Amino acid sequence: MTSQFEPGAHGVYRCSELSQFDWLEHGFGSRLGNPPVDVTLRQIHSNHIWTADGLADRQEEGDALISRQIGLRIGIRTADCVPILLLDSKTHAVAAVHAGWRGTAAQILPLAASRLCADFGGEPTNLYAAIGPCIRQCCYQVGPEVARQFVPFFPEWNTADIGARHLDLAVANTRQLIKLGVPAEHIFDSGLCTACSADLFSYRREPDNPGRMVAAIARLA
Ligand SMILES: [Zn+2]
Repeated sequence: MTSQFEPGAHGVYRCSELSQFDWLEHGFGSRLGNPPVDVTLRQIHSNHIWTADGLADRQEEGDALISRQIGLRIGIRTADCVPILLLDSKTHAVAAVHAGWRGTAAQILPLAASRLCADFGGEPTNLYAAIGPCIRQCCYQVGPEVARQFVPFFPEWNTADIGARHLDLAVANTRQLIKLGVPAEHIFDSGLCTACSADLFSYRREPDNPGRMVAAIARLA
């Protein structure tokens, strides 16, 4: 469901529904600033998932981190790709996921959510997710070779005629989580488009700008 993400101090957006968990710290950065983070990955648009505990920053290649370590801030970087933060309300496990079109096609989000449950003894029904700023359908046209890979997630498409499409990666990721068993009312989408907003970094709008936004999450208790 669409949620109001409040722009807080230092340009960091927070999802108000996630802020209600008092054992949790989270934030989505913008052009104006990023939340602090301890461990990130060297991102490669894969579906590789790492347990963050014991990793140095940028030690490994992959696109999702999971953790149950208190105080360890895990994060990913984006500038159009979809940043998703996950939590388990029972086990207090958390995850940070980077899902561009390749990662979304490879289902990195439901794979990370499954790992979060399997490794820490959780259930998809207790997971909550926040989808941060990313490039949206309004600004994201892809060619038929990319669109074809999303037919499984958009059964309403006329598959006899897959041409260029305006792709909604946030919806694809949301549907993947719901299929796994995460309740739709636990999934909160900022609705913010990186390419539409001058306050956000967009690779498509500014391919030469190396700026990236950090999305980070940590359990505090
Ligand atoms: Zn847009």
